[in-house]
Amino acid sequence: MATTESARTEVRGDEAARPTRLYIDGSWRDAADGRRFDSYEPATGRVWADVAEAGPDDVDAAVAAARRAFEGDWGRVLAPDRARILWRMAELIDRHRDELTELESRDNGKAIRETRVEMAAIVRYFEYFAGMCQNVLGETMPEVAPMFTYTRREPIGVVGAIIPWNSPLLMLAWKLCPALAGGNTIVLKPAEETPLSALAFARLIEQLELPPGVVNIVPGFGERAGDALVRHPDVDKIAFTGSTEVGKAIAAAAAPTLKLVTFELGGKSPNIVFADADLDDAVNRSAFGIFSAAGQSCMAASRTLVDRRVREEFVERFAAKAQSIRVGDPLADSTQMGSQTSQRQLDKIKEYVAIGAGEGARVASGGEPPASAGLGDGWFFTPTILDGVSNDMRVAREEIFGPVTSVIAFSDEDEAVARANDTRYGLAAAVWTRDVKRAHRVAARLRAGTVWINNYRVWNHTMPFGGYKESGYGRENGRQVMEHYTQVKSVYVDLQEDQPDWFGD
Ligand code: ADP
Repeated sequence: MATTESARTEVRGDEAARPTRLYIDGSWRDAADGRRFDSYEPATGRVWADVAEAGPDDVDAAVAAARRAFEGDWGRVLAPDRARILWRMAELIDRHRDELTELESRDNGKAIRETRVEMAAIVRYFEYFAGMCQNVLGETMPEVAPMFTYTRREPIGVVGAIIPWNSPLLMLAWKLCPALAGGNTIVLKPAEETPLSALAFARLIEQLELPPGVVNIVPGFGERAGDALVRHPDVDKIAFTGSTEVGKAIAAAAAPTLKLVTFELGGKSPNIVFADADLDDAVNRSAFGIFSAAGQSCMAASRTLVDRRVREEFVERFAAKAQSIRVGDPLADSTQMGSQTSQRQLDKIKEYVAIGAGEGARVASGGEPPASAGLGDGWFFTPTILDGVSNDMRVAREEIFGPVTSVIAFSDEDEAVARANDTRYGLAAAVWTRDVKRAHRVAARLRAGTVWINNYRVWNHTMPFGGYKESGYGRENGRQVMEHYTQVKSVYVDLQEDQPDWFGD
């Protein structure tokens, strides 16, 4: 059991460069084959951590540990005690919030002011799911026969969680909290770009009396550790957040073992600005919608649909806003937008801006890396607005996952809705208008799992979140998520004193 002091040391940013190990069965170990990989600090482009790389043997060991815990000690832990554990996890994260914030921002490049907000949300998240433990309810059914009939909501078993790099600890929370609240055990693979906060979390929870194997953290690559987890016959469910392409590969790889899967995938979310909108709010919040998290968000406002009558004014103000955003050192309080998380991501963004220009879009703002972010070789880009885009261009159809939005003009409500829905994705959408009837009418017509009216990219742990169409299936957050982390058992209790004999006379 680690002391608070050693836990503090573990999560400190400047200590993270030391070699990490895998967290399996309640203890730390190197990969079975000894493999390791480098993790980079995106703001500098330099290696800053030396990470043990889980392979199939390690995944196997983690799954076996999770199974033993599920069948053994963890399976006997009652709901109030699980609640206490989740609450204590919340307290630990809260106590170590500053160190975790710095570690996360260094590992994924997000501006620290955003990571701070995220960390506070994570604490709330654990608290909410502590409450959920004792609210996973079965039902009593009406008597349609002389039977007492009821359902039980039971854990699924071993959950395999595969998470992305844009909000690593938050994504861990989105999987781990409902998994433990439902009585499951978990093997979690963080993204190879950002393994450190999940390991720091594991170090913190060593202080709790958690049976070994309940939580296992196996950093590694998607095609190796991730794939092994997905194919493992003893994993009962995969919870995945990431790209639609990888989601499809996982769906196929999970099919032979018919395990349960939930997916939160990509998006190309429409942000619809009608002519009667409050343009100040629409400009400011549209900027937040696409440029927060440096655009590396599944729900990013990557298509900005604007009424022709206000397009020119809107784009002018939107571009001025974009140009005012301070891009730079993620750890500086004054920074408003940090770096992209990987070189690969930065290259992809540059390529899409070139594709957009080639398709005839006009760069109204940004379009290139900043002249200087003051940090040498960091992976920075500027807030970018492509104007004059039509919905059939690649920049309007494909997910860029960067600070790039495409402005698409429309003439009336029907056209706005048709354009908005003309995408293979359906994660989120927004509508800006002062007309209350139009707001609700359009919200109902949009084919997306989340719709904001006069706002963008707000989320709340009590609200279900997930996608329509190729943005995934299943829902995270809120009460609904528990449907995906428990299974229903129907119990029939016969109440008859004497039962008729079917095969009697
Ligand atoms: P991105 O393209 O945004 O990096 P990905 O969908 O590739 O997002 O990655 C999200 C997560 O999925 C990461 O943890 C990654 O390691 C994992 N992953 C990638 N490919 C696979 C795969 N074939 N099987 C399982 N996990 C994968």
